[in-house]
Amino acid sequence: MKQNVHPKTNLINVTCACGNSFATLSTSAELKVEVCSGCHPFFTGTQRFVDTTGRVERFKAKLETQKKVAEAEAAKKTKKAAKAEKTEAKAE
Ligand SMILES: [Zn+2]
Repeated sequence: MKQNVHPKTNLINVTCACGNSFATLSTSAELKVEVCSGCHPFFTGTQRFVDTTGRVERFKAKLETQKKVAEAEAAKKTKKAAKAEKTEAKAE
């Protein structure tokens, strides 16, 4: 091996978001991954969401908000219709 041309490699621990960790050689000091062979669907055979940034939660919250808005609007419409019926009854 030629001297002074290769970067220094360290034996480091790779930690996964699932809690799994294993040792490997790397030029970086530490390594954090979101998916490893211990939790990837290809290896586990089970489907699951890999969500470290909370995107699924945010999407669900968005859906919930849209539902609430739609319900409020529907309630407003029925109220308006009831009011219109009342005024019509008065006019007659
Ligand atoms: Zn993992």
